[in-house]
Amino acid sequence: MDTQAFKRSLHHSDRYNRRGFGSPTKRAQALEKAYQSTLIGSIRDNGYLLEHGRLRVRLAEAFGFCWGVERAVAMAYETRRHYPNESIWITNEIIHNPSVNDHLRNMNVRFISAEKGVKDFSGIEDGDVVILPAFGATVQEMELLHERGCHIIDTTCPWVSKVWHTVEKHKKHTFTSIIHGKYKHEETLATSSFAGTYLVVLDLEEAKYVANYILENGNREEFLKSFSKASSPGFDPDKDLERIGVANQTTMLKSETEEIGRLFEKTMLRKYGPAEINQHFLAFNTICDATEERQDAMFSLVDEPLDMLVVIGGFNSSNTTHLQEIAISRGIRSFHIDTPERIGESDNTIVHKPLGEDLILEESFLPDGPVNVGISSGASTPDRVVEHVINKLIKLSDQ
Ligand code: SF4
Repeated sequence: MDTQAFKRSLHHSDRYNRRGFGSPTKRAQALEKAYQSTLIGSIRDNGYLLEHGRLRVRLAEAFGFCWGVERAVAMAYETRRHYPNESIWITNEIIHNPSVNDHLRNMNVRFISAEKGVKDFSGIEDGDVVILPAFGATVQEMELLHERGCHIIDTTCPWVSKVWHTVEKHKKHTFTSIIHGKYKHEETLATSSFAGTYLVVLDLEEAKYVANYILENGNREEFLKSFSKASSPGFDPDKDLERIGVANQTTMLKSETEEIGRLFEKTMLRKYGPAEINQHFLAFNTICDATEERQDAMFSLVDEPLDMLVVIGGFNSSNTTHLQEIAISRGIRSFHIDTPERIGESDNTIVHKPLGEDLILEESFLPDGPVNVGISSGASTPDRVVEHVINKLIKLSDQ
């Protein structure tokens, strides 16, 4: 499919809207009322520090709702107001935050169900309204919804669209897109759908494996097996790795994306030499500002003398997981929770998700005596949720 031509025609359709229905100022005010927190505001004003008896809470200097998420959530609320009686659907969670998604469910916005990764669009009818989330939707989903006569409200974050433009450029110049991301993540699925030939690498280790293959032609069968779900149909590692460009899922660990970019640039330099490099390697910066700021703030936070760190965000939120990775890399006792309810006030427990593991219950969560707690939250977490967590810590410390 000519994805650019499809996008152009979609953007001209009167059943497509990517600007919302209200003024950006009103949108910001409405959201402030729903999700902002006065406690967090006052902690910010106090140099991101709260001191309460034996408890010291240090907030990361950038955390929580990013611009793209705020915009998507506000557009979803506006959509309900603009279409009070129509059936409204959303192709996925608007953002990876349970409380925001529950709020939308309460407004009678329906989520398209999926079984084993396959979405069921059968309930959607001509004239229904369908919201595309902040991390976008695949071009095939957009085409299906457009053909079915739906009104499409597209809240895709412009940072994500920028990555799509990047892979479109790779495709136009017959470069393979190497996407640093999680191949099953909705954003990467959407990005891949706009790419021509692509390969998704999860981390530096996988990137090194690919770089070695480029230089030394490794085991082809093993390569195809390893990337069977993370490459475009018919991917041929002996041909499709001759001209490559790098892009990323916007919420990956920035330092790792940069390292992967440098690795492939060096690899292509070694293989083809400086005179030929532009015919074999394309680099664009597709790291989102908000992700970068939050990760940088987390690196500063972990330099503080902390006894423990609480990272708040959806368990399937990629940017939250990367914040937790930073805490773990410094050996700090850390807890990833999705909602304040995971902290038991009466029995000093926490149910949290260690990286790559299932939920576990930990007792004696807040230690005795003076305690320094660092807090950060993912781009999909409203300040109100962070406030609620801090209030629970305050109560526990008072016991
Ligand atoms: S994290 Fe970045 S790319 Fe994702 S919604 Fe926020 S601003 Fe957009």
